[in-house]
Amino acid sequence: MLKIENYIGGKLLEPVSGKYIDNYNPATGEVYSLIPDSDETDVEAAARSAKAAFPVWSKMSAEARHDVLMRVSALIERDLDLLAEAESVDNGKPKTLAKKVDIPRAVSNFKFYATAAMHTATEAHETVGQAINYTLRQPLGVVGCISPWNLPLYLFSWKIAPALAAGCCVVAKPSEITPMTAFLLSKICIEAGMPEGVLNIVHGLGAKAGAAIVQNKDVKAISFTGGTRTGEWIAREAAPKFKKLSLELGGKNPNIIFADCDYEETLATTVLSSFSNQGQICLCGSRIFVERPLYEKFKNDFVERVKKLKVGDPLDETTNIGAVVSKPHMEKILSYIDLAQKEGGTILTGGKQIQVEGRCAGGYFVEPTVIENLAHDCRTNQEEIFGPVVTITPFDAEDEVLSYANSVEYGLSATVWTENLSRAHRMAEKIESGIVWVNTWLLRDLRTPFGGMKNSGVGREGGFEALKFFTEEKNVCIKIDY
Ligand code: NAD
Repeated sequence: MLKIENYIGGKLLEPVSGKYIDNYNPATGEVYSLIPDSDETDVEAAARSAKAAFPVWSKMSAEARHDVLMRVSALIERDLDLLAEAESVDNGKPKTLAKKVDIPRAVSNFKFYATAAMHTATEAHETVGQAINYTLRQPLGVVGCISPWNLPLYLFSWKIAPALAAGCCVVAKPSEITPMTAFLLSKICIEAGMPEGVLNIVHGLGAKAGAAIVQNKDVKAISFTGGTRTGEWIAREAAPKFKKLSLELGGKNPNIIFADCDYEETLATTVLSSFSNQGQICLCGSRIFVERPLYEKFKNDFVERVKKLKVGDPLDETTNIGAVVSKPHMEKILSYIDLAQKEGGTILTGGKQIQVEGRCAGGYFVEPTVIENLAHDCRTNQEEIFGPVVTITPFDAEDEVLSYANSVEYGLSATVWTENLSRAHRMAEKIESGIVWVNTWLLRDLRTPFGGMKNSGVGREGGFEALKFFTEEKNVCIKIDY
């Protein structure tokens, strides 16, 4: 059976303990590879390698770093099909989605930050008649990047690329649930001639390998994407050590549909924003609010469209919805569907596990599910389910829907559908979330700040924000004798 290896000091290595964890294919329910069960010994070795590589990497010109990162990007692009299939097998997502979204985005992440690093500038402040100040931005040193399972290579590279471009050396850990494309990336880095120790990838459990990265004394900053509870733990652990933190956490995003929306566009995009990647995108709109005059029509048409989605083998090109990521996650999703019914919800479509025939008979498949008749403040409408489950609720007034939208502990993203420009601005201003999409969803420009408010996180990724995060700002004040 294929054994995934750690990537430390430029080499592929077994975990020091020699222990491994099973890696499941969620579409079949079978173990298909083994993941290093790394511990603090492996993390220490990775941090030592990163520390040793830092003086040279951080002093290289931005152009030289650009060349390395562009080679990585080109090799990911070359291996598009192979990586997309690996992502699909590891995660359960349709291969067509990985080929269209996940892997191309990893290509872009490296490309974007390779070039961005060549366009950075810094501030200068003249203290008239006395001095000139300038801001020196220096790479932090060794940093930790920890990512989740829902968009494995996409989010892993979204952290690693800016850290490396800024001149930091990295100890990174992908999710133990989806480690495969990070392993393939380590092979790509070797082929691309990434200098030894600049990027180190340690595989293993969050509470063991992940915690060891957070606790390592040489790791100066943690860029983390994952669940809010894990983020809380990391914040508690890192705060007394004064580590810099970027936390991208959970969401429970509203999708607000006014009666004057562009109907066809709203309907088609709402199917995607509800169920893409089996609803396992932190930006999915899991709470749909529809203005009352449009409610019945929208609800009926939406449910019709959802019924037509094909759930099945992620490697089949005609599949819309693949497997959810794991058995425990499937059970969590099904338990929320149960809860929704206990809370008085009516299931309009879906609601059950699906038994797919053939190769995928043992896989973890859940029907895309739409639920109505739930209060905005019940648990189903407040807690993150992170699966193919949405609720649909009517509203009468702008203020009313704003109060529903903002009633959750999260504040990651929101979507507003209206042709009324003033209303769009009013809503965007009042919604408590880091991103507001108007008449679209998941349209991303990598230069924009990305992140959440409230319990969805602290700090912003994207654009120059991420490059700044990985640097220490130093004010240099030079007195001038006039
Ligand atoms: P998770 O918090 O369980 O795990 C995320 C990563 O953290 C994994 O690599 C895991 O091994 C590691 N980890 C777990 N415990 C740790 C610890 N004590 N110390 C250090 N590392 C630890 O999250 P998940 O289940 O993998 O991902 C799903 C969550 O991620 C959802 O809540 C989703 O909303 C969120 N998410 C957020 C964004 C965003 O941009 N805000 C994007 C994608 C996913």
